[in-house]
Amino acid sequence: MNLLYKSTRNKEHTVTASEAILKGLADDGGLFVPVQIPKLDVSMEALKGMSYQETAYVVMKQFLTDFTEEELKHCIRCAYDSKFDTEVIAPLVKVGDKYHLELFHGATIAFKDMALSILPHLLTTAARKNQVTNEIVILTATSGDTGKAALAGFAGVPGTRIIVFYPKDGVSQVQRLQMVTQKGENTAVVAIHGNFDQAQSGVKALFEDQELAGELSKEGYQFSSANSINIGRLVPQVVYYVYAYAKLLEHGELEAGEEINVTVPTGNFGNILAAYYAKQMGVPIAKLLCASNENKVLFDFFRTGCYDKNREFVLTSSPSMDILISSNLERLIYAIADQNAEKNRELMEALRTKGTYEITQEMKTKLSDFVGGYATEEETRAAIRDVYHKTGYVMDTHTAVAAHVCSAYQERIKDTKKALIASTASPYKFARSVLTAIDAKYDALGEMALIDELEKVSQTAVPQAIEEIRNAQIVHTRECDAEKMKDMVKEILHMAV
Ligand SMILES: *Cc1c(COP(=O)(O)O)cnc(C)c1O
Repeated sequence: MNLLYKSTRNKEHTVTASEAILKGLADDGGLFVPVQIPKLDVSMEALKGMSYQETAYVVMKQFLTDFTEEELKHCIRCAYDSKFDTEVIAPLVKVGDKYHLELFHGATIAFKDMALSILPHLLTTAARKNQVTNEIVILTATSGDTGKAALAGFAGVPGTRIIVFYPKDGVSQVQRLQMVTQKGENTAVVAIHGNFDQAQSGVKALFEDQELAGELSKEGYQFSSANSINIGRLVPQVVYYVYAYAKLLEHGELEAGEEINVTVPTGNFGNILAAYYAKQMGVPIAKLLCASNENKVLFDFFRTGCYDKNREFVLTSSPSMDILISSNLERLIYAIADQNAEKNRELMEALRTKGTYEITQEMKTKLSDFVGGYATEEETRAAIRDVYHKTGYVMDTHTAVAAHVCSAYQERIKDTKKALIASTASPYKFARSVLTAIDAKYDALGEMALIDELEKVSQTAVPQAIEEIRNAQIVHTRECDAEKMKDMVKEILHMAV
């Protein structure tokens, strides 16, 4: 069966999976969604024995139906290889009474690697399938982790260029160093004088700029997106929820059919949406706990049905979740509006012009799979400290937000279902925040001394990704105002400004 995709803002037009991946965003500004979520066509029993790569194939083939078996298996083989520091790709670790699904064993030690190590292969395959001869220019706004993961994925990939925009004061020191030391002729990194939402809105505006698209095409370029709005990011993320459930079964941690709760530290709503899709495919998931930091716009939304971004933007110790416009929520809004593109467009227009919208009572009743929660900065630190003292396990700040929200929920509802935590980053990526949560004395140390200290405290080896930046040369120094992103792109592509 051929699965087609349509825009969340237009019911007429459908595209194939490969077209949706190539375009990233629909011309009408909407996001591509599959016309229906496929059901898993293999049993959990069969999934139990499968490797990550095998699981990836059985899940992704149902979403990317216009890719041949050979194409898809080739993409999977190229993505999930020795770039990961463990053969199981996404290990499950039992920490206290929770299962942590560690999604940070790829090249840049954050969960973005799970999708961004395969996206360049999906994209170049999609280009070939659709006879695209233009060079593909990947434009990406990052809250810290996407940028490096996309740079690492696309560096040196023939037929592509990548331009990454990050908020100058909104990323961790390690995140910044990872990006500005990126090698590769086809890479560019720009610091924006602004926050992530401004960078993301700027990139979206560039995508929607038809005049610019025309100019680019004359020069032999076309844009595509590596942001989590691209369906080529979302689909690979569904894989690890299926895999995690099957492994829990295989290890005898669950009875057949037993439901689990999944907690996801959330920013742009991509990772948790993938868990929702996994549930719809047939994975026995009861609740999806959406964990926010102090930028708790999603918590408020799930509580009230009102999305309101008009509030102070808080810089927290979990910068990859410092987001007030969660782009992927649009896909959920569209689903709970019974795929009513007009209704969805109306709400998104209200978000754009007024910064707020309210869903109907009927839509609200369809959100019962989700529970919103948030952690304050102090609660996040306490979660890191407590888990470390009780178990010896060191969590990063993003994962700690999820762990806090999960524990608070268990406590409040007395829900005893087994809990899976999406563990999204290595503590090494946020060493200062992590170590000072354990003991304030560490704040006196320099960046690299912190790394050495974390090795002792966590008793895990320093990841390759950190070793790489210790002495690497800074090669990207561009900066610009958020309003000047278009000129910057043209300059990088050597076009007339
Ligand atoms: C991107 C990111 C998140 C948020 O994921 P979304 O898909 O944007 O909700 C959480 N934690 C880390 C470490 C991240 O890099």
